Amino acid sequence: MATSSGSSRSMGTQESRWRRHGDSHGDSSSPIPYREGPLEYTPAVLCKCDAKPVRFISWSDLNPGLRYLKCARARDGGCDFYNWVDPPNSSFKKQLLLDLRDAVKYWKRATGVAEQSLEDARMETARLLEGATREN
Ligand SMILES: [Zn+2]
Repeated sequence: MATSSGSSRSMGTQESRWRRHGDSHGDSSSPIPYREGPLEYTPAVLCKCDAKPVRFISWSDLNPGLRYLKCARARDGGCDFYNWVDPPNSSFKKQLLLDLRDAVKYWKRATGVAEQSLEDARMETARLLEGATREN
């Protein structure tokens, strides 16, 4: 009993850490690379511009993991074509995808910070070694 309450407490800490660093506010960029390009789908449909709409995956708080089609020129004078490809997820899967999204983003950022520290340490080491060599 004590073990399970302890582990759920630590999960809560981890989760709040993701939230604190989290970019769930407004950043719906994909945490993972697409397996298929935005235009690599069939059958093709056409938007009001008579063009093939692009297919994206939503990573918003409301619709994580759902694919949608959108006019390729929506931001550049295109039309308002917008269609969901996938049906809504259960609330369990929705929350699961949000947690996975936030975990991936947290670890990506943490890895980036660690790599930068390592690079700084390499530069500092090289600088110190160069100084030591010059003194000898
Ligand atoms: Zn269009």
